Amino acid sequence: MHSFSTFIPPERTLMGPGPSDVNPRILNAMSRPTLGHLDPLFIELMDQTKQLLQYAFKTENALTMPISAPGSAGMEACFVNLVEPGDKVLVCINGVFGNRMVENVERCGGVAITVNNTWGEQTDLNQVEDALKANPDIKVLAFVHAETSTGVRNEAKVLCELAQKYDCLSIVDAVTSLGGIELDVDGWGIDAIYSGSQKCLSCVPGISPVSFSDKAVHVIQNRKTKVQSWFLDMNLIVGYWGQGAKRAYHHTAPVNSMYAMYEALLILKEEGLENAWKRHALGHEKLALGLSDLGLDLTVDSAYRLPQLNVVKIPDGVDDAAARKQLLEDFNLEIGAGLGEHAGKVWRIGLMGYACKPRNIDHCLAALRTILK
Ligand SMILES: *Cc1c(COP(=O)(O)O)cnc(C)c1O
Repeated sequence: MHSFSTFIPPERTLMGPGPSDVNPRILNAMSRPTLGHLDPLFIELMDQTKQLLQYAFKTENALTMPISAPGSAGMEACFVNLVEPGDKVLVCINGVFGNRMVENVERCGGVAITVNNTWGEQTDLNQVEDALKANPDIKVLAFVHAETSTGVRNEAKVLCELAQKYDCLSIVDAVTSLGGIELDVDGWGIDAIYSGSQKCLSCVPGISPVSFSDKAVHVIQNRKTKVQSWFLDMNLIVGYWGQGAKRAYHHTAPVNSMYAMYEALLILKEEGLENAWKRHALGHEKLALGLSDLGLDLTVDSAYRLPQLNVVKIPDGVDDAAARKQLLEDFNLEIGAGLGEHAGKVWRIGLMGYACKPRNIDHCLAALRTILK
């Protein structure tokens, strides 16, 4: 039989589409003693985590909490709670994650109407408005704020205005945007939003912050049918995470991961949300300059490029997989491959959270310079 021993991972620099480098403060927090998940001290931590999340999302929504599962579960939580059989949902697709939203709508028994735009381009606002006009019974407008597959920022504020103008709810994917670029849940009137722990929050993977407006909560409480997922039914989860209410057992929270989430949000609060956005913008500028020196082209128009996810055209004659393997083996550096229709054509260089710092950018540029020689 194979002989087993403790797994000691190498220290990589994670500059892909997530997970990003985890701040050692967060790893330390995670290694502290496990408390019972209904221990009064842990409940206090849950309340404080909610408050810090409200800060990060810029919201006063009472129903704001971290779901005990990755970003994909946050996505699912928004759709299963708001979409009932027969409901029409307008989904904006300009990358991988828009397609996943359609999957979610259909599995809820809903009807997906789609606005499709080219990968690497923004969702076209006129097309969205035309679709909303043509289908007055649309219940939800769903879109991805920061499309990690293409490096494109969609116009979240304007899309939410359209949702309000045509009297529908909005579901926003902020997995890659939270903590990296401007996001204002209350200011923009977002009804349901989900994010992820492992992108610009630089926390360990496996937690998904969500927030629902009072309007969305009203819709959830007045459903005709039961939410088809027991685990993600917000009506049940609020008994566990609801503020003030006496906590009732729903599931066992991943206690140590919640220590990590709390620490990640505390770090964001200490830095200041606006400062974090600025740091990502500056990191992107430095990386873009360096890439251009190396003769590498960023594929997304600078007007709607994500600073935290940089899509670079792979130069002709360079073997994608071999180059990334060399970066990993010789430089302990991970960058992302292209997804879907971009596979083999681009690399995705993440500058997310703790990973967005001059030292990492210099390391990445030096490594690329060496392997491209
Ligand atoms: C990473 C990502 C997800 C999924 O998050 P997981 O934690 O991997 O489940 C969803 N949407 C976007 C835009 C993402 O970048």
